[in-house]
Amino acid sequence: MIVVMKEGARRDDIDSVVQLLKSKGLGVHISQGEERTIVGVIGPKERVRELPVQAMAGVEKVVAVSNPFKLASRAFHPQDTLIQVGEHVVGGSEPVIIAGPCSVESREQIVETAEKVKAAGANMLRGGAFKPRSSPYSFQGLGETGLKYLAEAREKTGLPVVTEIMEIDVLDMMLEYVDVLQIGARNMQNYPLLKAVGKTQKPILLKRGLSATIEEWLMSAEYILAEGNPNVILCERGIRTFEPYTRNTLDLNAVPVVQHLSHLPVVVDPSHGIGQWRHVTPMARAAIAAGANGLIVEVHPNPEEALSDGEQSLTIENFENLVVEVRRIAKAMNPVTDPMYVGKA
Ligand code: PEP
Ligand code: MN
Repeated sequence: MIVVMKEGARRDDIDSVVQLLKSKGLGVHISQGEERTIVGVIGPKERVRELPVQAMAGVEKVVAVSNPFKLASRAFHPQDTLIQVGEHVVGGSEPVIIAGPCSVESREQIVETAEKVKAAGANMLRGGAFKPRSSPYSFQGLGETGLKYLAEAREKTGLPVVTEIMEIDVLDMMLEYVDVLQIGARNMQNYPLLKAVGKTQKPILLKRGLSATIEEWLMSAEYILAEGNPNVILCERGIRTFEPYTRNTLDLNAVPVVQHLSHLPVVVDPSHGIGQWRHVTPMARAAIAAGANGLIVEVHPNPEEALSDGEQSLTIENFENLVVEVRRIAKAMNPVTDPMYVGKA
């Protein structure tokens, strides 16, 4: 259930509603919009209905949210969520571009890639230090040493760092090195891990599971939000379908659908989505045209020698072209989505 307060409701009115709900053992989350406050209530509908909330001062209406996700829903938080990472905002009209290798392989490799993707126009650096590999015999990542190299690359370039967390045990250690914690597709339903990162305030890049429905994905976001971390960035990275020619099927339907259902930003990973470098740029263009709030792209100075995902990694030169193209598309779209131009385009 959500309690929609009247425009300009007084602080005291909001506090009274919150106190009543809490006194009955209900969970309360507040969404403070520019015009009005919405109080999200977690707990059985019946218990909320028994209370005289509707009649309280400052309350406009009490509404049942039909989706199983509540805090992730647009009803609870009508305006887009904006997430500040360094000097960049994820969720605004300017798409953010995150780029870097699949894995951190050495100090030289990550620093060189960081410098080059920055020069090409990337806003953040990606690179895995803990890798979820399908085979236990494949390169598993450099672990904490990899995080140290990422931090060095950030120091040299100023690019915030995005890297994957696989286990709760290393959370405190990772918080020191990392600007955005990635939850990989394989861990999208690792609920203890979701709860643990939900107890921090770090921005979380939550990838869609290999075979997850949009609802399951949003429910995973809900786990993080329910613990008190509002900074969730969703990442569409392709799903398993019957099509064997590409690694996954990039579900660009998810971009407008999720933006309709939820206030959380959505970025797209065309690298894992299609799995072949030559098709990454067209899908990146399509993602931005579909309205994605950003991209996460695998880039390697020498893809043929990459220790993981070389076949889907762009060279620096190809990445430079991608940035030019997607920025052009974003620029072409902005006037149309800008309220000043709507209906006049
Ligand atoms: C990755 O980003 O390198 C990765 C392993 O992604 P995913 O979890 O989407 O497979
Ligand atoms: Mn990868």
